[in-house]
Formats: sequence, structure tokens, C-alpha cells
Amino acid sequence: PDIPITRFLIDAAKDFPDRDAVIFLGKRLTFSQLLDQVYRFANALKSLGVKRGERVGIMLPNSPQAIIAYYATLFLGAVVVQINPLYMRKELEHQLKDSGTETIVCLDAVLPKVREVEPVTELKRIIVTGIKDYLPFPKNWLFALKSKIDGTSVKVEYNDHVHSFVRLLKKALPKPVDAVYESGDDLALLQYTGGTTGLAKGAMLTHRNLVVNCLQAEAWLYKAKRGKDKILGALPFFHVYGMTVVMNFAIRLASTIILVPKFDRDLILQLINKYRPTYFPGAPTMYVGLINHPSIDQYDLSSIEACLSGSAPLPVEVQEQFEKLTGGRLLEGYGMTETSPVTHSNLVWERVKNSTIGLPWPDTDARIVDPETGEVLRPGEVGELQVKGPQVMKGYWNRPEETKQVLKDGWLSTGDIGRMDEDGYFYIIDRKKDTIIAGGFNIYPREVEEILFEHPAIEEASVVGVPDPYRGETVKAFIVLKKGQQVTEDELNQFCRARLASYKVPRLYEFRDELPKSSVGKVLRRVLVEEEKVKLQ
Ligand code: ATP
Ligand code: MG
Repeated sequence: PDIPITRFLIDAAKDFPDRDAVIFLGKRLTFSQLLDQVYRFANALKSLGVKRGERVGIMLPNSPQAIIAYYATLFLGAVVVQINPLYMRKELEHQLKDSGTETIVCLDAVLPKVREVEPVTELKRIIVTGIKDYLPFPKNWLFALKSKIDGTSVKVEYNDHVHSFVRLLKKALPKPVDAVYESGDDLALLQYTGGTTGLAKGAMLTHRNLVVNCLQAEAWLYKAKRGKDKILGALPFFHVYGMTVVMNFAIRLASTIILVPKFDRDLILQLINKYRPTYFPGAPTMYVGLINHPSIDQYDLSSIEACLSGSAPLPVEVQEQFEKLTGGRLLEGYGMTETSPVTHSNLVWERVKNSTIGLPWPDTDARIVDPETGEVLRPGEVGELQVKGPQVMKGYWNRPEETKQVLKDGWLSTGDIGRMDEDGYFYIIDRKKDTIIAGGFNIYPREVEEILFEHPAIEEASVVGVPDPYRGETVKAFIVLKKGQQVTEDELNQFCRARLASYKVPRLYEFRDELPKSSVGKVLRRVLVEEEKVKLQ
């Protein structure tokens, strides 16, 4: 369908004007109020001179402002560049420069970082907002929040270059902005990849990409009754996963979003108890965190009917434990920034198989090819996953070479190694780049991690290849133990030897209190590998 993603918000405000669109730590905004503020902000951006095609950066945690800035930018035909507020100078600079962002809407707490990199970027306007701009809320929440969001009280000096979000909103009119939409091919976002394997690349996502992925979700996933559900917004909206599967999907369904500005287990459990969400999209590490919460028994999670897990492999034990806890269904899906993001998932109504990412979504083709020759492989054979569908990006921004490498005849090479079974279910084995080659054998770290996960004392494990003079690479496991648990290397060694071919058994172990993670809680193997390299120098 050739509609802009903004149409979903117009429809929700028309059909459900008085329904809560968001609940932000006690503060509520209805769909008509939300659309009103989006129009105001779009007009404000317009009066500042923001034009169609221009890039607008949004560097905010999940908050009303994040949604308002996003939809206002898209109403203007401008292009959203989502930026993780936790980014440090180097990552921020890369993303602003690479995208040519001219306007940024940011949290007051990150303003010093923005100003620091500003001289080497094309930034012309900075619009600042504080978390507290959308409160007052009851005192107890304020108290809970203070310790959870850093630096909420930064003093900002406004001038004709640095603007206040709230003041802009107040001055502007809530009238619809002139339609600047041309077609589904209009660029909506430069969505940067996770940067798990290297420097983040800007995926060009169109309005069609975004609209289609919501409609695919609706057709495939959910019982899709508009105006009924409440969605827990724990995944960050600046990441493609939370953006589509929480924010846009909720607005499409006129569901209420319960905003979680920061992943914090206690905050999330309190929000679930209080607002009783029905749908909770997340990442495996989030579910792991909740299952292992020391007083999980004191919370009532029974409102949760469905969860979608993506971004990293979901261990079966985690899936089963979380389903027991909620009484709802937890299903695994798969996707990537380049595909807006979802291409596969399991079925909501029944679990057919374990440890699979499920079937391709409607209108999506998928196949396994030989990574060297490109030949399409048969069921059961292991190779690279390729996908094709209306949710696949136009290409990488300003990177024709990289685009050519991954996109051929509409087929996107995912960089993930996997297989398809006889029934058409897909399995991800690991990333092509993370494959460990030890003594001539290919080892997929995930296979080793899954075994480690089965050990009762282990909370988290990450396996990487480290340089080895004899074998080229050798297997090293980083382990986080559950609270109060202990285990020796010898015990782990025996445990692995009983379950894995000997060349796959880790030769080295390191115990840690935590593992480095991305914004959606994906363990960053690259960081671990780099630490190892530094140690060797
Ligand atoms: P970069 O491309 O910059 O290195 P990234 O690939 O981590 O970063 P994303 O686009 O956020 O950035 O993540 C997509 C990747 O996440 C997929 O290619 C895949 O490796 C992994 N992934 C997503 N869902 C699953 C899943 N269910 N099981 C295993 N891996 C998954
Ligand atoms: Mg990737």
C-alpha cells in the first residue's frame, strides 16, 4: 500500500482519539493529543527551515518526545536518523558526519557531547528536551526515575541555534502540515546498523519498508484488534527493532505504549504490575534478566499474552521459563536493520519446533546459499541466509560498494549462517564473521554458548575465537555466573567434553561480572575479541 507511515497515526487519532497512546511513568497522552503535538512540532521544524530530504537526528530515550520528533520529521518528508543517547563521542561523530545531519533533537543530558562534536559536523540546529518536560508525575515515580536516568538536570543556554523543545511546541500551531509525501519509495530513515561487527552503516529505509513491516506483523503475529492492547515499550525506539515492533506497530494497532526510558528490571516489573501490558517485545537478555530477578515471585506478570524475541538467539530454557512465568507465548523472530527489521518468526498460536527463527513473513522469500559460489542449497545444508521482500532496504547510504556486496537482484545477503529444514523452518547458526577457524575446523560460537547455557550455574556466556600460534584460533568462553553460584574451569571443561566434539570445547575460560552489550542487550563479541588482541600486544 502506498501510504506514508504517518498515516497510521492519523488513523489512530481519528478512530480512537481518547484512547491513551502513551503512558510515560504516570503521565498519559491520548492519540488526539499526540497527533496535536506531532503537528505542532512539524510546524516548528518547518519554521526553523527543515526541508524535505534533510536529515533530522533524534537522540532520545523512549519518551513522548522521541515519538513526537520522529513522526513530525516524517510528516515533513525529512529523514530520521536515530542515535543512541549512550553513544560516546566517536560513535556520535561518525553517525552525524556520515548522515550529514543538520538538525538534532536531543536529551539535555547529552547536549555536552553533541556540542563537543558539533564543529566537525554539518549541524545547524539543536533542539533540547529534558525527561522532566513530560512529567509531572507522582512523586514516587520521580524518585524511582532519578536513580535510573542519568543527568536529568542539565542547565541549557538557549540561543538562535539551541532551541527548547517545549517552547517550540508552545509557539507552534497544531495544524496539519502540507503533504510532502510522494510515494512509498520516499526515504524515511537512515537507520544505522548495530555496529556489532564493525563501523555502523546507514541503511536507507523507505516509507514503504516501514509500513509493510507493520502490516506483515499484523497479518502474521497478532490477533490484530485495533484499540485493544497495551504494549510494553522496553526496546529502545532508536533501534530498528523497537522502532517498528513497538512504536510503529502500536500506533498501527492504536495500542497504548507503556514507555520504559531505560532498561531496568525493577522499573519494568513495576510497570508491568501497574499497567498490565498484553504484549512485550524484547531481546533474550531482557527475559533472562527478569527470570533471574531475586524477587520475581512477588510480581504478577499474568497480563502478558505474547512476547516476540529477536536480535539474538533465544535459548529454549529461557523461552520455557518465561512462558511459565507469564502464562503467555514467547516466540522467536529474526530480522536486521537492513530489513526494517523483521523477516521471520514463529507462529503465535502454537509452538511447532524449538530453537528456530520460524517461517518467512508474508511476502518474504528466504533461501540458504553457498557463501562462496552463491548456489542455492537444499534443506538441511548449511550456508548463508538470503532474504527478499518489500521490507528490504534501498541500500546503504553513500556506500555503493557495500550495497553491491549485499544486494543482488533484490536478494539481501544477511551475513548469517543458517539452514532450512524440510518443512521450511529456518535456523540461525551464527554470524559468518564470528565463525572460529581452529586447526582447520569451523566452529560456530553459538553452538558452544548453547551448551554452556545448559549449565545450572551459568547466567550468561559468550564464546569467541582468540589467536593461537598452533591452531590459528582457539575457543575462549567468557562466563557470567548466577548470583551465589560457583564452578571451576575443570568442571566446565568436563561438562563441555561430555556434550561437544573436542575441537569445539573451550580451551580458555574467563569469569566476568557482566558482558559488554549493545543497546538491545546483544552481547558484543567484537569488544571481547578486541580486548583479547590488546592483551596480546
Ligand atoms: P552490524 O551489522 O553493524 O555488525 P548488527 O548486525 O548486530 O550490527 P542489527 O541489524 O541490529 O545489527 O542486527 C541484526 C543481526 O542480529 C542479524 O544479522 C543476526 O546476526 C542477529 N539476529 C537477529 N535476530 C536473531 C535471532 N533470532 N537469532 C540469532 N541472531 C539474530
Ligand atoms: Mg548486521
